[in-house]
Amino acid sequence: MLGLIQDRPLLISSLIEYSGLNHGDVEIVSRSVEGPIHRTNYRNVNLRAKKLAQALGKLGVELGDRIGTIAWNGYRHMEIYFGVSGMGAVCHTINPRLFPEQIAYIVNHAEDKYIFVDLTFVPLIEALKEHLQNVKGFIVMTDEAHMPESDLDNLLCYETLVEAEDGDYAWPQFDEMTACSLCYTSGTTGNPKGVLYANRSTVLHSFCVCTNDGLGVSNRDSILAVVPMFHANAWGLPYAAAMCGAKMVMPGAAMDGPSLYELMEAEEVTLAAGVPTIWMMLLGHVKENNLKFSTMKRTVIGGSAAPRSMIETFVDGHGVEVIHAWGMTETSPLGTTGNLLKKHENLSEKERTDIRVKQGRVVFGVELKITGDDGEELPRDGVAFGDLKVRGPWITSGYFKGEGGDVLDEDGWFTTGDVGTIDPDGYMQITDRSKDVIKSGGEWISSIDVENEALGCPGIVEAAVIAIPHPKWDERPLVIAVKEKDHSVTRDDVIKHLESTLAKWQLPDDVVFVDELPHTATGKLLKTKLREDFKDYTLTTA
Ligand code: ADP
Repeated sequence: MLGLIQDRPLLISSLIEYSGLNHGDVEIVSRSVEGPIHRTNYRNVNLRAKKLAQALGKLGVELGDRIGTIAWNGYRHMEIYFGVSGMGAVCHTINPRLFPEQIAYIVNHAEDKYIFVDLTFVPLIEALKEHLQNVKGFIVMTDEAHMPESDLDNLLCYETLVEAEDGDYAWPQFDEMTACSLCYTSGTTGNPKGVLYANRSTVLHSFCVCTNDGLGVSNRDSILAVVPMFHANAWGLPYAAAMCGAKMVMPGAAMDGPSLYELMEAEEVTLAAGVPTIWMMLLGHVKENNLKFSTMKRTVIGGSAAPRSMIETFVDGHGVEVIHAWGMTETSPLGTTGNLLKKHENLSEKERTDIRVKQGRVVFGVELKITGDDGEELPRDGVAFGDLKVRGPWITSGYFKGEGGDVLDEDGWFTTGDVGTIDPDGYMQITDRSKDVIKSGGEWISSIDVENEALGCPGIVEAAVIAIPHPKWDERPLVIAVKEKDHSVTRDDVIKHLESTLAKWQLPDDVVFVDELPHTATGKLLKTKLREDFKDYTLTTA
C-alpha cells in the first residue's frame, strides 16, 4: 500500500524559490572579479536566475543540455547554479586549474553548448578555442563596460543577456532524478571522469549539510565558501545556504590570507569552509599580525587531512570549532563529518582533538564500511584498516557516458580508493589513498600519519611522504618538506620530533627539503609528480 502523500519532485529550483520568497533580504556578498565588493540578496538571485533561464531558453538551451562554467565563487556563479539547473539543464563546473588539454577534453566530453566565463579566464578560452568547436558561445560574466577585447567571435555579455529579460518565469517541474550538475574529478591518472548529480541527490545532500550533525548550516550563519564552486559544488554550500537562507560570502579570485581575513571580519563570518592549504595561508597571516577571529565559530576542513597542529590552532588558539569532513566528488561530496558526541563533552581538549583529527562519522544517508583483500567486511575496532566503501542516495552510480565501466559492486557499494579504519563509535580515519600507502616489511605505514606528525615539527610548513624502494623492506618512507622562511630546522630535528609519536618502524628513513611541493588542481599533494621526481632517490639506509 502506498502512502497518501503528495508526490512533489525534489528540485534545485525549489531551493532558490524558497529563499527568494522567505529569506529575500538575506545577503549574498562577493568579492567581484572587477574589483569591488558586490552585495545582492536571495530575492534578486532568484529573480536573476529566472531571467538567466529565460535568456538561455532563447539561445536554444534545452532540458539536459550541458552548460559549462569557468568561474570563481561569486553571485553570478550562484545565479548560474540555480538558473541552469532550475531550467532542467546541467551546470558543468570546470576547474580552471586543470591542464589546458584536460579542460579541452572535458568540455568536449561533456559536449558543453555554452560556457560561462569569468573575465580572468577569457585568455584561457582564447588559447583553447581551436579545440572547443562544439561550443556555440562563451558568456562573459560581466557587464558591457567590462567586456574584454577578444578575437573570439561568439562572445556574449552576461548582464546584457540577463537584463533583457523580465523574470516572469515559473520554474519548470520535471522528474527529480533529472541531472542538474556535472563535475569532473581531477584525474591524477588518466582522463578526468564526470560525476553527474541529480536534482534529488543535491536536495537530499543539502538537507544533510543543514543538519546539526552534518555541517549545521542555518539562517544564523554567515558562510564563507572558500572551497571553489568548481570543486565538488563548493561542498554543496550554495544549495544548503539557499535551503535555509544563510548569508553567503564568496571570495572571488582573492584567496590569500589578508583578503580572506578582511572578508571574514567585515561580513561577520560564522562558518568558513576550505582545504588545509588555504587555511595554512590564512593562519600564517593571522599569526604574523597577531590577529583574532571576532565572529567565526566553526570551520569545515576537508579535501585533504586536516593536520593536528592546524586543528589545535583553530580550537585552542582561536576558540573556533573544527569540523573535519571527508568526501569526494563522487559523494556529492559530504560523506563523514567529525562532530563530537554528547559523550565527549567531559573529555580534555587533547582527547577531544584526538577525535577531531579523524575524518568523522557518517551522516544519515551514507553507509560506510571497510573491507580486506578478500572483500570481507573488517571489524569496526579502530585498528583494522582496509578499502573504504560507500553507498547512499547522493553517491555516484557510474561516471558520465559510462567511463570507467561499472563502478559499483553487486550490493551497490562504491570503492573510494581510500584506506581507513572505523572505530566502535563510527569515527572513520583515512590512513591513505590506496595507491599511496607505504608497504614496509609486511606492515603498512600511513603516509598521512607521517605527514601530519611532521607538520607538528617547528619550522615545517608542508610535508609529503612517499614510498622509496628498499632492498630489505620493499618500501620505506621519505619525507619531502618545505621549511618556514629562514628557519634552520634540519633532517635530524624532524626525525627526532617524529620519534616522540611514531613507532620506530614507521620513522622515515630520510627527510629532504624543497622550496615548494606540487599540488593537484584541487589543492592536494601531487604524489605522482613527487614519485616521478624522486624515482632515482637512494635512501641512505638502503
Ligand atoms: P579530486 O578531484 O582531487 O579527486 P576529490 O575532492 O574528489 O577531488 O578528492 C577526494 C579524495 O580526497 C578522497 O578520496 C580522499 O582521498 C581525499 N580527502 C577528502 N577529504 C579528506 C580528509 N578530510 N582527509 C583525508 N583525505 C581526504
